[in-house]
Parts: sequence; C-alpha cells; structure tokens
Amino acid sequence: MSANLRFTVVNEAFSHAPVTVTPPAERPSEYFGKYVFNKAKMYKYLSTDVYAQMCRVIDKGEPLDIKVADAVAEGMKKWASELGVTHYTHWFQPLTEGTAEKHDAFIEHDGKGGMIEEFKGKILVQQEPDASSFPSGGLRSTFEARGYSAWDPTSPVFVIGDTLMIPTYFISYTGEALDYKVPLKKALYAVDKAATAVCKYFNPEVSKVFSNLGWEQEYFLVDESLYAARPDLVMTGRTLMGHDSAKNQQMDDHYFGSIPARVEEFMKDIEINALELGIPCKTRHNEVAPNQFELAPIYEETNLAIDHNMLMMSLMKRIARKHGFRCLLHEKPFKGINGSGKHNNWSLSTDTGILLHSPGKTAMDNLRFVTFVVETLKGVYNHNGLLKASIMSATNAHRLGANEAPPAIISSFLGKTVTELLDHVANADPDALLIAGKHAVKLDLPSIPELLIDNTDRNRTSPFAFTGNRFEFRAVGSEANCASAMLTLNAAVAEALEDFKTRVDALIGKGEEKEAAILKVVREDINYIKPIIFNGNGYGDEWKAEAARRGLDCETSAPLIFDSYLTESSIALFEKTGVFSKGELEARNEIKWETYTKKIQIESRIFGDLCINHIIPVVTKYQSMLIDNVSKVKEIFSKEKAVEISKENLTIIEKISEHESFIIGNVDKMIAARKAANAISCEREKAIAYHDNVAPLLEEIRRHVDKLETIVDDELWPLPKYRELLFIR
Ligand code: ADP
Ligand code: MG
Repeated sequence: MSANLRFTVVNEAFSHAPVTVTPPAERPSEYFGKYVFNKAKMYKYLSTDVYAQMCRVIDKGEPLDIKVADAVAEGMKKWASELGVTHYTHWFQPLTEGTAEKHDAFIEHDGKGGMIEEFKGKILVQQEPDASSFPSGGLRSTFEARGYSAWDPTSPVFVIGDTLMIPTYFISYTGEALDYKVPLKKALYAVDKAATAVCKYFNPEVSKVFSNLGWEQEYFLVDESLYAARPDLVMTGRTLMGHDSAKNQQMDDHYFGSIPARVEEFMKDIEINALELGIPCKTRHNEVAPNQFELAPIYEETNLAIDHNMLMMSLMKRIARKHGFRCLLHEKPFKGINGSGKHNNWSLSTDTGILLHSPGKTAMDNLRFVTFVVETLKGVYNHNGLLKASIMSATNAHRLGANEAPPAIISSFLGKTVTELLDHVANADPDALLIAGKHAVKLDLPSIPELLIDNTDRNRTSPFAFTGNRFEFRAVGSEANCASAMLTLNAAVAEALEDFKTRVDALIGKGEEKEAAILKVVREDINYIKPIIFNGNGYGDEWKAEAARRGLDCETSAPLIFDSYLTESSIALFEKTGVFSKGELEARNEIKWETYTKKIQIESRIFGDLCINHIIPVVTKYQSMLIDNVSKVKEIFSKEKAVEISKENLTIIEKISEHESFIIGNVDKMIAARKAANAISCEREKAIAYHDNVAPLLEEIRRHVDKLETIVDDELWPLPKYRELLFIR
C-alpha cells in the first residue's frame, strides 16, 4: 500500500457517519426470542403430547424417540417457513475455536417430477458432514472422513436470515468428541451428579444442580477502512507493529465514558439482534483502552450461555461491518494498552436457588455456603495448572502475566469477610462450633454481611475471584470458546465434591452425626486449600516468588502449559468424571500445539513481509531524501558550515541504517528459526521451538520498526498509526 493510501483511508474513516438503527416497534420483552424455537413456540406448534415429551427430553435428559423427533421437525418447519426460512444447518463447535455450518435446502423430490419442502426428524437429529478438514488431532484420519453431528435439544433451534440453525454435537465415526459441546455436557452432568448428592445433606428435596455462566465480552472496534490498510490486523487480528500513541489510556477517560455515537448505534443493533435470538443482553459500556468496549448478557445455564456467546461473537463481527467497523476479538490487538478478556462468572444453583449465595437464613444454610465455596476452591487448587492450560492460547498468552490481566498463576481472591469466615470455621474450638444433639446442632457461624453481595470487596488482579454469589474466572480470553474453561472448572469441582461426599459418608458410617461429619471434613479442607487463597496484589514480583513457594503452577510458556492436560492427576480427573479419555486428551493436545505453531508462523510470515516490503523501502526512501539534502547543503556552504548544518541529519541517517540492518538481519534470522522449527516432526517440540526461537524475534524486531515510525516522515509512513486506529470512531 502506498503512503497516499494511508491518508485516503484516514479521510474515509473520518467521513463515516453513524448508521441510524431504528428499534422494533414492540418492547424488548415482546421481541425477545422472536427467532428462537423455545418452549413457548413448541407449545404453539407441537401437539400437547409431543410438547410434554420434548419438555422431558430437555429438562430430564430423557432419550428422544424418532417419532417425537419427526413431529418436532414438522412443527419447526412450519414455524420456520412462516419466517421465510428455506434452509437448515447443523451448527457445531469444532476445535478451530469458531463455529461451523453447512446449509441445505428443505427441498426434496416429490416423486412426481416436482419438489416438496421436507424436514424429517432423522435430519433434525443427526447429520454426517464431511469432517475431513476439521482438526481431530489424529483421532480420525483424513480417509475416514466421517463425523456425526447430533442435535442438542437442550439448546433451542433458532433462525438467522433464511436458515434454521440447529445446535449440535460433533463426534467422530468411532465416537470420540471432535468439539467442545460433548465434553462440556459430560462435565455438566458430572457436576450435577456430585453437587446434587452433596446438596441432599442440606436439603433432601434437591434433584438437580445447574452450572451457570454469565460472560462479559470485551472487544475493540476499528474503522473498517483503517483495518483494511493493516495487513497484520487482517491476517492475525492484532497489530504486529505500531508505536504507542502519545495519548492512550493514561487519562482513564474512556472507561465508562459516554459512548461514541457510531459505536452506540452498533451496540443498539447488536442488542436488538441478540434479544431477538434469545440472548438476554443487559450491559454495555466503554472499557479501559480507547476504542475498547464490553457487552454482557444476564447469566444462563452454562451450555446455553456458551452457545449464546459463540453466536454473539459471530453477530458482533457481522453487524460491525454494517456500521463501517471491524470488531476485534483478539486478546491483545494493541501493544501497550489493555487487552480483552471474557470474565466467566460461574455459579451452581438448584431448582431452589444459588448455592454460593450468602448469607443463609440458618446455620445449616451457612454451612452449605461454606461447603460449596471450600469445595470449589479445592477443585481449583488441585487443578490450578490445568485450569491455566484451559484458558491458554497463542493469543491469550499476550495478556496473561502482562501488567493488566491476571498473572499466569491461578489463585483465588475471597475478600476479607469470607476469608475471616473460613478462618473462624477452621480455627474455632469444635465444641464451641458444635453442640451435639441429634437434630439440634448449633453451628456458630457468624452471619455474613449483606455488603458482600455489593461487590465492594474487589480485586482486579485475581484470576478467580469470589464476587458475592459467584466466582469470576477472569483469565478466559476474549476470543476463546468458554467451554474449555467451563468444562475444566466444572469437572474439577465435581471431583472435589465427590471426594468430599466420600469422606463425609465414611465418618457418618463410623457413627458420626451428619452435621459434625460435614464440619470436620470442611475444616480439613479449609486448611488444605490455604495455598490457593491470595488476597494481595497479583501483579507484583513478590507474588510470583510466594506462589512458587506455595507450589502453584508458575509456568509461563504456552506450549509447556499445555502439558498440564496430560499429567496423571488431569487424566484421572477427566477419566473419573467421564469428560475425556486419555486418547482424546492426547489428540486435543496435538491440536493445541499445532494451532499454537500455526498462529506464530502466520504472524512471523506476515511480519517479515511487512518489514521487508512495507517498512524498509519507505525508510530507505526517507534516508535517501536526507542524504540528498546533505549533499546539496555541501554544494552551497563551506565545508565546516555544511558539516554543522547537516549534523542532525547525519545522525538520523546513521540511526536509520542501524535500525535497518537490525531489522533485515533479524528477519533473516527469524526465517531461519522458522525453517529449523518446521523441520521438527513432534508437534510439542515444534511449538516449543516457535515459542522459544521465533516469537521473541517478533518483539525484538518490532522495537526497531516502532522506533523508525517516530523518525520517518509521517507522510511516507505506509501503515495507519495507533493514534488513528484507536481514536477514530
Ligand atoms: P461486573 O461488575 O463484573 O461487570 P456485572 O454485574 O456486569 O459484573 O455481571 C457480570 C455477569 O455476571 C453478568 O452476566 C451477570 O448476569 C452474571 N452473574 C450475576 N450473578 C451470577 C451468578 N450467580 N452466577 C453466574 N453469573 C452471574
Ligand atoms: Mg466482571
């Protein structure tokens, strides 16, 4: 791209007027779920009998009879055709991080030379997409391309444009999961089973425990014309070069500031579309970095919340373009300012309420609260390295450990009140806590002040913070499929709860009263989990040293962090909870390493091209202009005078040469490092080579390019600068 083009796109960007969005005439409560085949639609479009059977399939997990599926498909087709729908697709979440879909029309031959619209239960329930191009980590070789997508009736079907979208699982011919939904559902089943059993100590009526997820999606918006002029953004989702803008986020004037008009129209548009698709969008605001924003719906059951997040991310990308923006979901699009995360607010609840909610009305309620907090932390402590692996990626690696996001160590912030409560439970004289008596147990648990729910007790540096009635897993990346973190967390908590129940039951078996047994085990566990609790500043270097002393996982290299999936305790966890077999874990790790390598490889290639084809020629041109000037000065002035006049230019000419030779030399070195890494056949070793030998060069070379940006004539600089990317809106 020529330098002139930069000014053309900047002018174009400035001329974008907001596209005005007219909200529907109805109120949000009326158009909510308009394009979703939810229970209300089922009630309307299905017979009473079929409706009742579908409710049992959805709520109780009963198997789906093919006759029922036929009837449901018929009702769906009728509803969808009233909306002008002509196609259907199985919509699934392969291990590429995004979603996949293949559209088919409803039409079939009618046997009389014409066509009919047809949609049968068997098509609704199962499909066989050619799966050969999706990552499988060797679970399914390319010649055995068969994969199955199977309907997930717990996530309702919805309509986008002319297509009926059917949320599905994706599995290989031999039954292994090739997606995120299958293991997620297994983890949710495990936590339901384990938590329900523990709940019964406190309330025998409880029959089901749900895992809830409320995600907060951060993102950047960049003007589309500027985006198109940045090959690095187009190819990798982040800027690989670019000097800090003089003003960035230091004034803290963007956070919660008034939303720019063009952005507000985009947000309105997103929210209307999301509400129509049944996503309960609630919150929007400016984030810390310029042109960074956040959007959050009300929390939902985890499986549905994740489908909604996947859908939301694709909506955001699509609708941004209508407003002349590109939506950046990458965790670190710009160096030197905040990156984007996706806080995962997680809790467990029964049909009767949130389990992590406090304060309880009775001592037993409080003991239940303490039990669930402690056992959650036990899961997090036991698997802190694995949880870190569950949120790690080549892109999120830029955020973790940087001076803004949680550090690359998993710990939990509880706040003063809960920490003191746990200390009290652990340290008080058991006789003072427990006055024996079969049904009249007095638990001297201090009541928990209301203020806790108020979110006043906050710590932004903690990756896993208790925030009133939930834990907030803050380390999840903005671009990630939340399922990776959520299946790991729920499995870890399921294991902890199961272990808790085994120990309590053993004590009861020995004649201990239920309440006393629970208290005894909880007290042991409070002492056990101490190392995971950290209420201090997670950014400091002291914490890194302290965390290492406590035995927490402090690894920072992404490829090595992935090793946590294959430790004995991780394999045992996943096998015990039925989430993954060892073979599936090994296959998934192959994909993780391969994906890591490919991401760095693409970045390195495009970065090399930019250096050699965009930056160096322009820099050389500018240097020639200076050299030209110096020789002209020599023609006019005396030798001494000329030397004096050209002093500064000569320094710049020299500096440019130094930067240029560093860049050219190190781009060659980077290419050689890539070649050496590519020759390695083991995916793990290759990823390590990319991490150790290629990725650092990108940073080193970038420093020199960024320096040149401050030296070279602005008119010649070919790439839109940070001040343009971040402040034009
Ligand atoms: P923050 O102050 O962290 O931005 P918000 O009030 O915006 O928090 O809420 C963040 C998310 O947490 C929302 O999606 C909200 O619905 C969700 N949330 C609230 N309570 C719970 C809960 N008990 N379990 C799971 N998510 C919850
Ligand atoms: Mg939050």
